[in-house]
Amino acid sequence: MRWRGRWPRWRIGSNIRGEEAVSEADCIFCKIARGEIDVEVVHDEDDVLAFRDINSKAPVHVLVIPRQHVANLEEVGKLPDGVVKRLFEVSSAVAAEAGVTEGGYAVRVNNGRDAGQEVFHLHMHVMGGRKLGMP
Ligand code: AMP
Ligand code: ZN
Repeated sequence: MRWRGRWPRWRIGSNIRGEEAVSEADCIFCKIARGEIDVEVVHDEDDVLAFRDINSKAPVHVLVIPRQHVANLEEVGKLPDGVVKRLFEVSSAVAAEAGVTEGGYAVRVNNGRDAGQEVFHLHMHVMGGRKLGMP
């Protein structure tokens, strides 16, 4: 389908791959950002929050999220530029705080089905403390 500047009506409520959009009221990371679900917060500021992943895949595994709900990288343009920058800066700060800057760490965004994205609120995985391969 050729892009005509806006989605047709049937697309409203779904994203580009036809996945159901999750409202901010129902989104688990929005609930975390509002303090409605307990998490281990490692960094807290106005627009960005970082907390430990509940199912850690590495000795250091932190999720960095914008407080504003955006589902994925296709929606990253909705975030103010400064917030996008802070997502990277906070990822670096979290890695430094965890002591993995020297050893190295991975910052990963799972985007969409093939990447295994489970939570449709944009987030960066900051992982370190062990050798990490690709993917
Ligand atoms: P993904 O969408 O695949 O990039 O990953 C979502 C991540 O969120 C997974 O690594 C989950 O372990 C993590 N996660 C889901 N619910 C929570 C929660 N309540 N607290 C912390 N991490 C969570
Ligand atoms: Zn959300």
